[in-house]
This record gives sequence, structure tokens and C-alpha cells, in this order.
Amino acid sequence: MISRGNFTDCVVIRSGTVIHPDPEQTRIRQVLICRGSVSNDCPHEPAPIDASGCLVSPGLVDIHLHGALGHDLTEPDPAAWNQVLHAHLLAGTTTALATLASTGPAETAAALATAAELIAGRQTPTLAGVHLEGPCLAPEQRGAHDPAHLRSATQFLRELTPLPETLRMVTLAPELPGADELISYLVAQGVRVSAGHSSATPEHLARARRLGLSHIAHLWSGQSTLTRPQLHRLPGLLEAALASDELTAEVIADGHHLPAALLTIALRCLGPERLCLVSDATAGTGLPPGTAFRTGASAGRVHAGYAATEDRTSLCGSVTPLAVTAARMREMTGARVEDVLTMATATPARAAGLYPRKGSLLPGADGDVVVLGPDLSVRAVVLGGRPITAPLAGGGR
Ligand SMILES: [Zn+2]
Ligand SMILES: [Zn+2]
Repeated sequence: MISRGNFTDCVVIRSGTVIHPDPEQTRIRQVLICRGSVSNDCPHEPAPIDASGCLVSPGLVDIHLHGALGHDLTEPDPAAWNQVLHAHLLAGTTTALATLASTGPAETAAALATAAELIAGRQTPTLAGVHLEGPCLAPEQRGAHDPAHLRSATQFLRELTPLPETLRMVTLAPELPGADELISYLVAQGVRVSAGHSSATPEHLARARRLGLSHIAHLWSGQSTLTRPQLHRLPGLLEAALASDELTAEVIADGHHLPAALLTIALRCLGPERLCLVSDATAGTGLPPGTAFRTGASAGRVHAGYAATEDRTSLCGSVTPLAVTAARMREMTGARVEDVLTMATATPARAAGLYPRKGSLLPGADGDVVVLGPDLSVRAVVLGGRPITAPLAGGGR
């Protein structure tokens, strides 16, 4: 039951098992949020939330999210963005990078302007910035990205000068001509750079890392893998990422993109501190099977638990919010619940440069919490100290 205290942004979440990546903090039994931030004390009669029998986690952080409910974030309509991000918020995602598939220069600029308007107006509190997935992608690895919208690193660098202030992450193919200058420019201004939809060799990746590239988009999707052109085997971007020391990387654990063995390999190679769960959720999320939708410039159709291109030759993003992928990751790999939640909170927050304000329950962090049942189903969501959803009757046991 939720009852109101003196301030609407003060809550105390009691009696649950608090999931905390810091082992020093694992003994804490409650999370206190005072005036919107995690705190050690609150003098304002915080509203209690009973989390008996439940897990209490930092709110989930999705750094690769394209849409929901028939809307794709390449639509510059602020109302559409609000619907998309609110649908994901109800599903436990309290921080999102609005991720745009490759579109034309005018559409990209319009979407960046929408993000700036929403962030300036504080109308969409889960929006933490924009992740441009493209348009500097390798044509042969483009997947569902429209080839008509791919363009050169040089042209894209011109488009991003001056840097749009809401831009937080760019996924690009580091082997393309001009990519070095683009990576250096973005990194120097604090934008995280990710390799994806790319045929990079390990040498290309090493060079990009020296320039500051720090992340790898969806492992096994749109990237070069092992080849044997003559006698000797040559690793691709995939193997170089799995063998890396410092890079973070994404997996789409929706139960359709990657079988259990591949999720297990990714987790063993990178560990929960470097492997991020992402939804890659499209406009098909939340729509019934059979519904057609658009993602960027491509068309997809919803099936039972996944989306495919109209010709059914490939998957077309996912229809699964991040919390559901966390549950699938645990079912499929047997990973510890603490590790699965780290992969959906602290690790993506670090990859996007948002930690510890996001993805943690350290004092001073934003008061974003998700209360989960033992099966990782979402029972309650708190955003900036405000309950968004009430816990289900019965508290979860
Ligand atoms: Zn992609
Ligand atoms: Zn994507």
C-alpha cells in the first residue's frame, strides 16, 4: 500500500531484498528516497512501499531502445516519444537512451531537436539522451537499416558540428573511411562510441579503442565473425570483442536473438560488469501478434514474442522490454539474480557515462527503483521518488 507523506518525492521501500552491486552494501534492508534522491535519512515522513518477498533494484537502464506501441523514435513527435518512454517505464525502465536507426539528415536533426525539447522541458524524465545507431554503418552488415540512409563519416561529422547536446552515444563501423576523425571528435566531447553493424577486423577495433571507442553493439548481430580465407583463421569484430579487456558490449536476451549457449559465452567472456542487457525494442513492443510496424525506414511484423521483417528473412529488433530480457537471461543462463540485474542497471549506466547517478542505489543517486517478484516480474516502479505503479495486492509472496 502506498500512503502519502509530506513530500511527494519521499518514499521508503521496506522489507525487500535490496540488490546492490557493492558488496559493502548488501546488508541494507530498505531504500530511502528523500526529495527524489537516494538518501540515508529523510525527515519528511516518506511514503512506505512494502516490498516483502520481492527484490529491490535500481531502476533499469536501457541504452538501446527504438520504440513501442506502434511508435518509432525516428518520429519527431514529442507525444510519440512520451508514449514510447512511458510504456517502457511501466515495464521497469527508468532510464533510456532514445535509439534512432539510420534516417536522413533532416529526420535525424528533427529527432535530436525533439530530445532537446523534452529534456529541457523535463517532460520525459526517463530520457537520458540520444543513441544514434548509424548512419555510418558497413553496408554489408546493415541488417534492417535502410541502405539509402547510410552515409559517410565525413558527411556525418559535418551534420554533428556543432555537437547536439542531447547526443550521448553513437554506434558506427570503425573501419569506414573518416571514422577515426569522427570517433576522436565524439569522444573528445563526451559522447560514447560503440562499434556495430561493422566488418571491422581486430586491428580496426584496436585502433578505434585507442581513439576512445568503448562499447560494442548487440553481439552476434550485424558484425564480422571468424573467417578462414586461406589456411589460417581470422577473428572478426565478434571474437575481438569477446577477447577484449575493457570494452562493454550488448546482448539482446529476448529468447529469440541468441540461444542460451551464446548468452553463456558472452557472460563468461565479459562478466556482468562489462556485459549489458539491452532491449533493442521496436515500435512492435506492446502490439498484438500480426500487427505491422515501422522501425526507422524498415517494415516489420509482430509474431509471438518476436518481430521479423515482412519477408521473414530476419528478426527485426525485439518486442521485449528490458525487464523481460533480464528474466530470460536468468532462465537461459542460470546467472545469479544480482549479476542479471547488474547487467540491466549499473553496467549499461557505466557504458553510457550515467553511473552512479543512474544504475545505483548509492546515496545521492536518482531515486529510481524497480521492485521485482522472485521471477523478476515488475511489481512496482518508482521514478525520482514518485511511485509510478502500485505494488500488486499481496506484496508478491
Ligand atoms: Zn542494430
Ligand atoms: Zn537497434
